[in-house]
Amino acid sequence: PQLANQIAAGEVVERPSSVVKELVENALDAGATKIEIDIERGGHKKILIKDDGKGIPKDQLALALSRHATSKIANIEDLEAIVSLGFRGEALASISSVSRLTITSKPKTQNEAWSAIAEGLDMAVDVKPAAHPNGTSVEVIDLFFNTPARRKFLRAEKTEFSHIETLIRRIAMSRPEITFVLKHNGKTVKRYRSQCHLDDAISVQSGRISEVISSGFLEMTSVRSVQYDQINISVWACRPDMCKSVNPAQYAFVNGRMMRDKLIQHAIRQAYANSLHAEQQPEYVLFIELPADEVDVNVHPAKHEVRFHHARLLHDLIVTAFQDCIQDFSR
Ligand code: ADP
Ligand code: MG
Repeated sequence: PQLANQIAAGEVVERPSSVVKELVENALDAGATKIEIDIERGGHKKILIKDDGKGIPKDQLALALSRHATSKIANIEDLEAIVSLGFRGEALASISSVSRLTITSKPKTQNEAWSAIAEGLDMAVDVKPAAHPNGTSVEVIDLFFNTPARRKFLRAEKTEFSHIETLIRRIAMSRPEITFVLKHNGKTVKRYRSQCHLDDAISVQSGRISEVISSGFLEMTSVRSVQYDQINISVWACRPDMCKSVNPAQYAFVNGRMMRDKLIQHAIRQAYANSLHAEQQPEYVLFIELPADEVDVNVHPAKHEVRFHHARLLHDLIVTAFQDCIQDFSR
């Protein structure tokens, strides 16, 4: 089973940012309100994710590190309507097979914290008492220490950290109610504060957009929310004459997941078609919420692409929402 884990690790764990993605998604699934991401040397040396979520009881700590141990799928029907972000039950096992992994946790209902330690292929999981507030920390040391071929493919510290930064920016964009703190080599690099104090969903999201992109961006956008049947679309579209050509801000989320979907991109291009110069790129933040059975998220394993069951309808709703925003600027 350990070798199987290491093979699976090749799929789940491509580089430090893929480890961060899995661990932050676990923290989100656990209902965390604050997540700290503490990175050393681009993640080569250390990745530490600390949350204040529901925790893992002592007797389930070792289990959480074993392959296909997921607490998130209760029955086969759940597979068809995947609501939580994780569902494969192999991230922790895979990561621990290519690193030295310590998971420390304290559920509210338990008086003490406990740690489980696993190291590479000889994963005799050791459970020991520890000190930790309510929640969970997962520490990944020396990623790929036992898979030299993979270690060789790691890019410079700066490159790996910039992948992590991009990832956290995207996740923060989709979860404005959660506080994220990102550290690199002991220094706080980014702090996204919970926008919960603002009183409506649009303000909460706008608050996070100005943290993630800039407050200037917000001033150049028009906002629309459209609803059709059970489809909800919210759009922040940048005024065409202000759209950049280099490093455009482009964020599209479907049920909370960042997507680079062809249908979505096509709809946005169509809406902007007559108002951008050739070199300009549309700039936007887009959220689409729809029933889980209206969308197939497993088209692409990395889950950047989806298949919509009512593709034409969705396409037209996106075009309309963007066109409405763009028209605001020509009044
Ligand atoms: P999955 O997320 O697909 O279920 P993982 O290997 O990522 O599989 O995690 C295994 C299990 O460990 C999860 O189902 C969950 O029960 C537990 N777990 C992992 N991380 C956390 C966390 N930060 N807080 C609470 N429980 C966690
Ligand atoms: Mg997971």
